Amino acid sequence: MKAKPRILTGDTSTGRLHLGHYVGSLENRINMQDDYDCYFIIANIQALTTRLDRPADVHQNVMEVMLDYLAAGIDPKKSTVFIQSEIPAIAELTVFFSLLVPCPRLMRNPTIKDEIRDKGLGDNYSMGFLMYPISQVADILAFRPEVVPVGEDQIPHLELTREVARRFNQLFCHVDPHTEDADYLSKGGLFPIIEAKLGRTRRLVGINGPGPDGSLLKMSKSLNNAIYLSDDPDTIKKKVMSMYTDPNRLKATDKGQVENNPLWIFHETFNPDKAWVHDAEDRYRAGTIGDVECKRKLVDVLVALIEPMRARRSQYEKDLHQVKTLLREGTANANELANQTLLLAKEAMHQRYF
Ligand code: ATP
Ligand code: MG
Repeated sequence: MKAKPRILTGDTSTGRLHLGHYVGSLENRINMQDDYDCYFIIANIQALTTRLDRPADVHQNVMEVMLDYLAAGIDPKKSTVFIQSEIPAIAELTVFFSLLVPCPRLMRNPTIKDEIRDKGLGDNYSMGFLMYPISQVADILAFRPEVVPVGEDQIPHLELTREVARRFNQLFCHVDPHTEDADYLSKGGLFPIIEAKLGRTRRLVGINGPGPDGSLLKMSKSLNNAIYLSDDPDTIKKKVMSMYTDPNRLKATDKGQVENNPLWIFHETFNPDKAWVHDAEDRYRAGTIGDVECKRKLVDVLVALIEPMRARRSQYEKDLHQVKTLLREGTANANELANQTLLLAKEAMHQRYF
């Protein structure tokens, strides 16, 4: 029987998971669990790159992310979930891979630039922050996956992953540089040239309106603009009823703008009743339906999506010991594969001595 293709993806332990994670990546992962060999990393070292002042929160958030995974439907019998800092091979591969990346190349990464701006890092970010895309390359390549399900902001990091894999394979496995990406393994390469799998919404916006440059910011744990998969119905209601919509529409009878309006982005993304959405969008444009009615409808839609997850979460919360055991087992499983990759990488680099 042919082995299942592998996927690797994950989340930073900077907070609980939100709707952006769900449509950007989590939903794809849940649907892929039967057909793929799944590895999910909880990236606590990457979390520390912006949270060094709150290490205990980073620790707590590892558990929160795991609970969110289980709540959303990740099945530990099918998928391996593990903690980044407990996989030493990732740190070692990061050192080797850093030799393959020109320094100025890191500074050109648009996601890094966005994060420096949006998270207010100024010019105080650490070397470790700047290095995290290389560490992420190691997170991925340690598991030699074919597919990486992610949101749009990860595309630059995945491009770097492909570049490092191509360079490694060319330099150390003597793969011809003209080889097609899909053929690197059959030509003797160690690392596959990964493919991204984007979610049905590549970049869900937050609930707070535009950032300094006028465009809507992505929903993000760090920006205080998220609806969480663990929010209770009251919290969802408060967030939705006060969410940003069309600022030029002062009265419910004014013509409203649907495009670039979080209210309608959310309806289009989450409301299964497409006929209602299209009709209500037309009425919103014409000024014959109010924000309040549309927001109430959205509350119902989101509560219906999130309540089953919250119920599962509260079951797991009753037995945190079991949750920790699942993480321990997943981490042991992940170490086996990552250690094997490290040995193969060292062999290819002529750096295996014993
Ligand atoms: P942080 O603010 O700490 O960076 P985050 O909210 O950006 O947190 P990450 O852990 O960095 O979350 O991202 C985990 C995964 O979720 C990535 O694949 C990322 O692309 C995806 N993702 C995060 N936010 C969104 C979003 N708003 N829309 C779609 N996908 C998203
Ligand atoms: Mg992020």
